[in-house]
Amino acid sequence: MKETFNTQLMHPRDQIAIIMGRIYKRGLTTTSGGNISLRDENGDIWISPAGVDKGSLQPSDIVCVKKDGTVVGNHRASSEFPFHKAIYEIRPDITAIIHAHPPALVSFSIVREIPRTNVISQAKHVCGPIGYAAYELPGSAALGAKIAEEFLKGFKAVIMENHGTVVGGSDMLDAFQRFETLEFSARALLYGKLVGEPSYLTDEEIDAFEEQIPHLLPEMEEVSHPSDERAKRQEICKIVHRACNHGLMISSYGTVSVRWQGNDFLITPTGTPRWDLQIDDIVQIKDGKREPGKMPSRTTYLHQEIYARHPEINSIILTQSPYLMAFAVTGAQFNVRTIPESWIFLQDVRSLPFGIQFKGRMEIPEILSTDNPAVMIRNDSVLVTGDKLLQTFDRLEVAEFSAKSLVMCAPFGKMVPISDEQVEELRSVFLKG
Ligand SMILES: [Zn+2]
Repeated sequence: MKETFNTQLMHPRDQIAIIMGRIYKRGLTTTSGGNISLRDENGDIWISPAGVDKGSLQPSDIVCVKKDGTVVGNHRASSEFPFHKAIYEIRPDITAIIHAHPPALVSFSIVREIPRTNVISQAKHVCGPIGYAAYELPGSAALGAKIAEEFLKGFKAVIMENHGTVVGGSDMLDAFQRFETLEFSARALLYGKLVGEPSYLTDEEIDAFEEQIPHLLPEMEEVSHPSDERAKRQEICKIVHRACNHGLMISSYGTVSVRWQGNDFLITPTGTPRWDLQIDDIVQIKDGKREPGKMPSRTTYLHQEIYARHPEINSIILTQSPYLMAFAVTGAQFNVRTIPESWIFLQDVRSLPFGIQFKGRMEIPEILSTDNPAVMIRNDSVLVTGDKLLQTFDRLEVAEFSAKSLVMCAPFGKMVPISDEQVEELRSVFLKG
């Protein structure tokens, strides 16, 4: 059973070791690079050590720098301790800091630009405006001063010139979510640039998205959890964790649902960080009512409508993955006629305008069909449907792989799709009967 990440009760040592492991596993830091710290209620700063393998960091490796400067632990504190301390001194609202050199954000830092987070609504919402700190020697007090100056302006995320990024959070999960979302946005923009020109949402469009008042289903009076319902909870959690581990979902965004019985279904909640989703977070929707005390995904109405209209659809994944988002943020054609597998799994994926996913809009359930199992929503997400959840996940993986191949082939030349005749041949052999 997966341990629940609890920022209130889990020891700073454990929080730092877990988040470092996650960042390393997702390819967001190297063996020696990056550092993470947490300030506790005594004002002591817990920080990852200098010179210890980030790929196998243990809670016992974490160092504590007391308020009076005494260092407790088995190692030296990270050489970047001075800037962590400088940020904490001026920002009482920040209790966790993550610094690393993730490749896409470094790309921005070496061309000396700040990624524009208006590209996706959640990115702007989670990251906030981004600061920019001029170059200084790593580990120096001067670097600490430059970074602190940016945080003093109110930023929670800063690009460090020719170096990397540093983000703060109200707690460790808040910091991790911001770090992960910022690197994700940078990737979507970079990959997008290889296939087209990113388009951005206006502040008004983002506000309209964030201010939608979710239509809350009424609460059910009594709730029961038969074994088949429990099995589906487990199934959803496993797929969400797998999607996070494989870069197909980030903490701040993504909804998964599975049909349970008739038109009743189980769906992920709103707001819970996806990496840490637990079986009791999942929300049961039965006879148009929600499990009491729980807040299902804001897109519940959409899932409800899809299940009601499409008896063949038994699971839905709505997510953002970096290569698919390259197409969603640019509007470049996502042509799945790359290899037989891609076309058989996806057929032609339609790109729909931003706003179509808003509450009350019914176009998506109308467009979906056995010939259109997946759709892309501009500057928002990709929605994939299928029978079994594993099949839907596989379809999502195929879509992300196809998008990756299309992005990767761009510098070599124009992709040559398989022909209409070849597509018809695939249809008659693999999809008919
Ligand atoms: Zn660094």
